[in-house]
Amino acid sequence: MEMKLERLAKSKDRKVRELYDRLVEGVRAVLNRADWRAYLDMLARFRQYSPANVALILAQKPDATWVAGIRTWNSLGRRVKPGEKGIMIFAPTLRKVTVREETTDLETGEIRVVEREEEILVGFHVTHVWDVSQTEGKPLPEPPRFTGRVSGDQAARWLWDRLLAVSPFPVACGELVKLANPYALGEFHPGTGEIRLHPGLEGDQGLRTKVLLHEIAHGLAYRLGLDGQEYRKTLGREVAYQRGEAIAEGAAYIAASHFGLDTSGYSFEYVAGWVRDAEKLLEWGEAVQRVARTLIKLVESAGEKAA
Ligand SMILES: [Zn+2]
Repeated sequence: MEMKLERLAKSKDRKVRELYDRLVEGVRAVLNRADWRAYLDMLARFRQYSPANVALILAQKPDATWVAGIRTWNSLGRRVKPGEKGIMIFAPTLRKVTVREETTDLETGEIRVVEREEEILVGFHVTHVWDVSQTEGKPLPEPPRFTGRVSGDQAARWLWDRLLAVSPFPVACGELVKLANPYALGEFHPGTGEIRLHPGLEGDQGLRTKVLLHEIAHGLAYRLGLDGQEYRKTLGREVAYQRGEAIAEGAAYIAASHFGLDTSGYSFEYVAGWVRDAEKLLEWGEAVQRVARTLIKLVESAGEKAA
């Protein structure tokens, strides 16, 4: 009996691994699409401005959307329209300095002097950027259209009922639910451990089940110590966020597929939009699979309860 259970567990891990590989392939295929490549290439050219500069930009041009310096605009085949006033921001002033360091060779006791160049921040200077509306020329690449759909209504219903029965996190759904972020389809609140689903999901059982899986995956990642404050400290806010979304959606895709609900049309594009580079997904693969296995076990425990 024990042997049999062990073999069963091993084959389950292999299935999770196979579904994870399928996810990586799917995300790669999305990222290789021409419309995605053009758009991501454009995103890479726009820099992230500091919160202080974002405030400055919005104070001077409240409707600003895409903001960049003149060289970036020119590289995208656009130029600043005659007479347009630049938006003032602050840029760091860096100066190259030579740093001398003494190191002692532990074996010979010899002291060596090593010199290296380093850039140090000596202050800030004013520079100008322009919003896309102040430029003209080649149109910017459109954001890729999100085509995703979740198929398999029966599996979705079956999974939905089980998820509601076993979710370790209370689930608020229905027409009266309000989300902190109105553009999100669902939210997991680490503080209260509560999940909220967007009221607009009521009519779409497939997508609603997918979103619930995603939010439970967020919760499980927190519980397992695979997501949280410490990742924000070590990776920075942005990358930590990308990682958290890749884990939640990746695990949701794997668990959904395991139970016969195909979310690939949605999940591949969603993960691609966050990771933007398939290599990152490989780096986070262990965490994706661990949350997926936990999610599958959780759903299976609903069957045990019912029996
Ligand atoms: Zn999420």
